[in-house]
Amino acid sequence: MADGEFLPGKSPLVDRYGRQITYLRLSVTDRCDLRCTYCMSERMSFLPRAELLTLEELDRVATAFVSRGVRKIRITGGEPLVRKDIGSLFHSLGRLVGQGLDELTLTTNGTLLAEHVDGLLQAGVRRVNVSLDALDPEKFSQITRRGDVSKVLNGIEAALSAGLNVKINTVALKHQNASDIAGMVEWAHAKGMDMTLIEVMPLGDTGEDRMDQYIPLPMVRDVLETRWTLSDETDAQPGAGPSRYTRVRETGGRLGFITPLTNNFCAGCNRVRVTCTGRIYMCLGQDDHIDLRAALREAPDPDLALDAALNRAMFAKPEKHDFEIKRRGDVPRLPRHMSTTGG
Ligand code: SAM
Ligand code: SF4
Repeated sequence: MADGEFLPGKSPLVDRYGRQITYLRLSVTDRCDLRCTYCMSERMSFLPRAELLTLEELDRVATAFVSRGVRKIRITGGEPLVRKDIGSLFHSLGRLVGQGLDELTLTTNGTLLAEHVDGLLQAGVRRVNVSLDALDPEKFSQITRRGDVSKVLNGIEAALSAGLNVKINTVALKHQNASDIAGMVEWAHAKGMDMTLIEVMPLGDTGEDRMDQYIPLPMVRDVLETRWTLSDETDAQPGAGPSRYTRVRETGGRLGFITPLTNNFCAGCNRVRVTCTGRIYMCLGQDDHIDLRAALREAPDPDLALDAALNRAMFAKPEKHDFEIKRRGDVPRLPRHMSTTGG
């Protein structure tokens, strides 16, 4: 499709509960250079490359969603920046920004961010979420089972210096980082970055006991409130999705809480996820999915088949998730890892 040719005009994606889907999380790989203890197991087997959608197919899927009213796309994974030639996907999706798409963004572990900053900016990316669970090199390396925090910090500095808006995502882990969270909030806010805390979700077998990792965020908030004043941001928080934001009076920064376990915000859900193999998961916490790869590779008219698949997905989107934290050894009800579905 040539520049400027695109205009959304088809019927919007609305599910059976009246929720309009305007946000797509598109996973471009299941691979990653880290092995975070809550996300992957030590020994992961990854998909054969032939099973992945090509960059052209990923572009076609994204374009189909935008033509049905999706206004925000987040590229994710696995680690999106380890996918070969990922810069060219950002470049091609950049043509949709302002042509139906309000925002093109990504979630990254930051290890390769420094070398991608210029390309991302040129593609129209203005904000990026960087996942970071510890500032201390030793703790970071334990949580990620291998990572070097200095690479992530360099990536963050490069992004900030180039003018990208960076938000830090931190999974709260009972024994590994809960006592460091206040220090991380201070660090992020001092650099003008928002921060969001996330509860561990029971996705996939990681070889770790989730009960040893899970800490309810209301408990973390109580501790933070012994030193700071947190005021809930009561406005509609457009685009905030499941995150509930507060303003920390003493630092002046924003702090979000994603609490899928302690609170359920499914009623306002505006998103779906597409995996790197082309499956639409209508809910992160349910296993129903619809295959887009067959539509792309086998249908006589792929664009028509994609549209039909999107309609089926809207009919099948469940009302809500039903996460439950279980111990190591219990079979996870959802065998998929977060890195498969795309966080
Ligand atoms: N590799 C990139 C990164 O880490 O930002 C993108 C993919 S990662 C799966 C997306 C987000 O999911 C990260 O913020 C990560 O911390 C979070 N995540 C992974 N597994 C999770 C789990 N079991 N519960 C809660 N969050 C999880
Ligand atoms: Fe990789 Fe992101 Fe999963 Fe960590 S959370 S293992 S960085 S995909």
